[in-house]
Amino acid sequence: MSKDIIGENEDVLVFLDRKRTFLIRVKRGQSLHTHRGYINHDDMIGKEFGDGVKSSLGINFTILKPTPIDYAKKMLRSTQIIYPKDMGLILVHSGIGCGSRVVEAGTGSGALTSVLANFVGSKGRVYSYETRAEFLEKAKKNLERAGVLNQVELKNKDITTGIDESDVDAVVLDLATPWEVVPLTSKALKGSGVLVSFSPTIEQVVKTVEALEAEAFVNIEALESIVRRIKVKKGQTRPETLMIGHTGYVTHARKTNSTHNQ
Ligand code: SAH
Repeated sequence: MSKDIIGENEDVLVFLDRKRTFLIRVKRGQSLHTHRGYINHDDMIGKEFGDGVKSSLGINFTILKPTPIDYAKKMLRSTQIIYPKDMGLILVHSGIGCGSRVVEAGTGSGALTSVLANFVGSKGRVYSYETRAEFLEKAKKNLERAGVLNQVELKNKDITTGIDESDVDAVVLDLATPWEVVPLTSKALKGSGVLVSFSPTIEQVVKTVEALEAEAFVNIEALESIVRRIKVKKGQTRPETLMIGHTGYVTHARKTNSTHNQ
């Protein structure tokens, strides 16, 4: 494996601690101002990812290569975004990988879109539907920043009026009425393709599962993921007192080619 050397125009995550990180694009002659002194971009050029860089106050920061989650966390938001714990479930159950074609709705801030696009890679495509044009504008900026815009087709369209694509590998839904979209997804998906839907309420999950059963989907499963952060300190290691109590449920299913449920 070749080493990752930092060049001009490279995105870097300048890391002090988990609460203090700076996602920047390296430009010659510029500096990053922090409460712990400033860092010259020139001092990072030629270094390897993982190296340290000192601020004007002599504080050591670490230069990290941004991951899709680092970009998602820093995105301009017009909506609530999907949490990493739910993104993980959505990704593994969607079955997508390099070269996959995925339909998604709604785009929202584009956080989930960016992670899906990262997984389908340059040979894949994410077709992302969003009714609100102003949200799409912001999402476009976020996706550009994350370096995945080339892999995404943003569509200012209500997905309930029809899915333009066919034979897609997966459909991923994060919108208020997924059950209205299920009959359309069954036409857009390849046989054996996956539908994944994220919803905050149980009522939405019940309606979605009923719609999936009516459309002859199989392997239907509804999941909730509960994650606790652990405070690690010698002799005092335990879950943190506060946690994210609820985000939403992930429902997934596989499309069959039959017309009747079985
Ligand atoms: N997953 C996104 C957030 C989506 S929020 C993220 O991680 O950033 C839900 C979005 O769905 C909203 O922006 C809303 O405008 C959009 N939406 C709701 N109904 C829709 C429909 N029928 N077609 C397309 N988009 C829809």
